[in-house]
Amino acid sequence: MWRSSQRGRDEVTCIACGDSVARSEAREYDKFGDRWDREGKEFEHLCKPCDRERCHQPRGNLERLLEDVESAAAGRDRDAFLATYLELAERADSVEER
Ligand SMILES: [Zn+2]
Repeated sequence: MWRSSQRGRDEVTCIACGDSVARSEAREYDKFGDRWDREGKEFEHLCKPCDRERCHQPRGNLERLLEDVESAAAGRDRDAFLATYLELAERADSVEER
């Protein structure tokens, strides 16, 4: 399938910041998590800066972490919440091997 584009050759749009980047400069982002099964799929793209940011901030972990913090610091004040957050975040960082 070939779509014509006024902007010329192979440009894709970063799904995070909306910038147009050359396809060769972009990272493919497959929301199904399986880059190797390409049949009938359309990939989304991230520019390199956004891709880098994404790797540093795994959102899935953050949400799980916040749930843990909420239950650990339940009924306590904001300082306790933040202290618990930092403690658990540090622990999660040191455990995670990737
Ligand atoms: Zn971007």
